[in-house]
Amino acid sequence: MIDVARDSLFGLDNLPYGVFSTPGAAPRVGVRVGDSVLDLARVLDDEVFAQPSLNPFMARGHRRWSEVRERVTELAGADVPADAVHPVDEVHMHLPIEVADYVDFYASEHHASNIGRLFRPDSEPLMPNWKHLPVGYHGRAGTVVVSGTDIVRPRGQYATPDGPEFGPCRRLDIEAELGFVVGAGSPLGTPVSCDDFAEHVFGAVLVNDWSARDIQAWEYVPLGPFLGKSFATSISPWVVPMAALDAARVPLPRQDPEPLPYLRGREPWGLDIDLTIDWNGQAISHPPYRTMYWSPAQMLAHLTVNGASARTGDLFASGTISGPEMNQRGALIELTWGGAEPIDLDGEPRTFLRDDDTITISATAPSSSGGRLGFGEVHGRIQAS
Ligand code: MN
Repeated sequence: MIDVARDSLFGLDNLPYGVFSTPGAAPRVGVRVGDSVLDLARVLDDEVFAQPSLNPFMARGHRRWSEVRERVTELAGADVPADAVHPVDEVHMHLPIEVADYVDFYASEHHASNIGRLFRPDSEPLMPNWKHLPVGYHGRAGTVVVSGTDIVRPRGQYATPDGPEFGPCRRLDIEAELGFVVGAGSPLGTPVSCDDFAEHVFGAVLVNDWSARDIQAWEYVPLGPFLGKSFATSISPWVVPMAALDAARVPLPRQDPEPLPYLRGREPWGLDIDLTIDWNGQAISHPPYRTMYWSPAQMLAHLTVNGASARTGDLFASGTISGPEMNQRGALIELTWGGAEPIDLDGEPRTFLRDDDTITISATAPSSSGGRLGFGEVHGRIQAS
């Protein structure tokens, strides 16, 4: 029986999956139970758990995910071999999935409005399409990294009054987001409806979409973000199964105008997840996921409505999570209003990231036992370029 403190954020109602290794052994699949990692390659007779990513397990499909979750629940409360359980602070965590395609949405009305006001002060904050479809762009799958990976300050072009210059980014920012991992794909030519979300999406991770605002501002017209985003995206090492988030489901904020039929599900739902952003150890914001305008199911329906297939390992992120309050904004550009209103960080006024700064994003949600479950955290330190 694995010891779990009563108030643990990793109780039996969570059971997130990750890829871990111990000294001298290959990376393999484990489940976090309390402050321990249960080695699934050791306790379950299925070769998918001996792999260095969750993809082979995720590809087995929704029925298998349910079976394994049930079996792990039994095992965690029973006698397991001592060598199948490792203290979480004695294992090394790896990128949990082999990322297939990576898409980033823009689903927070508060974030999109704030960015609109900052980038286009003389026009309507929201573009005319924004309330009709979940706006998104394709990111770079190969630069998604696991929490703890240092982020090298990107170099690039940015505009100055004397014309474009090249150099290290001077407005390096964060975006606190939630990411959804596709477990079972869909065939080319067959859209996934809002109501089929659970058949395809395996779980959720925390995402920090590092953003070079000066590079982004110069390059983004007319095709959207490119090098200002593609240098690195960090994700948390534990994938919280969607099954664990049933108790966190909440109604979506009202959508007006009513979306087109393909964006309507039987019962539209959002998620009641509370995030915290720490900058060098100081909490600077508490973004509430429940305020997001577009739901994860609508994002997947939109992503596939043109017939594009989804693949095991696809990652689609929500876009920056910003609530209506000042201290609920998910990016420094909003928290400091474009750098004009610095944050007091341990007595020092600060705007964008400096070398050696560390950002940590964590989150919790209601769990089925009436307590809370945790996502763990995604953190990263800025390295000089
Ligand atoms: Mn983003």
